[in-house]
Amino acid sequence: MMQDIPRLNADRACPVCGATTHVNFADEHIDQERINDFTYASRKQPEFMCLRLVRCTSCNLVYAPNPPDNQFLSVAYADAAYDSSHEAQCAAQSYAHALAPYVAHLRGRTVAVDVGAGSGPFLPWLVDIGFQTVIGVEPSRAAIKAAPASVRPMLREGMFGSELLEGVKPSLICSFMTLEHMEDPGIFIKTVYSLLEPGGMIAVVVHNWQGLLNRALGLHSPIIDVEHLQLFNPSSLDTLLRNTGFEDIKVKPICNRYPIGYWLRLTPLPSSVKGVIDGVLKKLSVSDMQLSMRVGNLLAIGIKPEQE
Ligand SMILES: [Zn+2]
Repeated sequence: MMQDIPRLNADRACPVCGATTHVNFADEHIDQERINDFTYASRKQPEFMCLRLVRCTSCNLVYAPNPPDNQFLSVAYADAAYDSSHEAQCAAQSYAHALAPYVAHLRGRTVAVDVGAGSGPFLPWLVDIGFQTVIGVEPSRAAIKAAPASVRPMLREGMFGSELLEGVKPSLICSFMTLEHMEDPGIFIKTVYSLLEPGGMIAVVVHNWQGLLNRALGLHSPIIDVEHLQLFNPSSLDTLLRNTGFEDIKVKPICNRYPIGYWLRLTPLPSSVKGVIDGVLKKLSVSDMQLSMRVGNLLAIGIKPEQE
């Protein structure tokens, strides 16, 4: 249980394009009583709490101008509770499906790195498609502990940075649903760029705040979350990769496959109503049935030029 979130002293500029002109997007809504170990865990019950959010009038990124400081975030993620194994498997399958056609064209297959790997559900796929070395970087101890014995040796505990990957020249660095959580996504993308071998690929998946469903749900969308320090749309994601030097950038909406019961948990319905519907779904034995939906997630890939 935490008392108060320590903040930066001054508002930050847009973390993608550096502009300082913005319009209001959402007022801060934080209930200190409800901040707990699960607040910084992935795939939890939505809490509908958020930091003050603004929209950059230059690149259309939605971001928190006054996020918690980095040290606070490091500790919060290291201590985050972990409760999402089955859903993490479903998400990993969705990402593999979306990424497969692009990775097929990748020439290098030496090292693949997954940043924010959780308990490592995506790593076996990277091994299967022929990478010689597969590394997952993950700050949460609980997530690493939850990894299957066959995957755990591939996981490295800590926040992503060149120190954790010294001497490694990856052909592919991927990261799913993590850019929203970073104090500075620009530094992350630059670090990825510097680590990759020439011709290497970055692949990220993010929420799209302009996705139809997210716009329909407005401030009740599960993407409006105290953990999210920025929210992308196709143009801000493209800008982020392009400004760093990546080429052949593609930004595409992707489908996510999850059990129906999980989709229900994400809806903004009151929990009493969810309980009733959940009971009916379980009675009909359809709660675990997989449902594929486009919920406003974006895959972006980019290639580091062979010659700079
Ligand atoms: Zn911007």
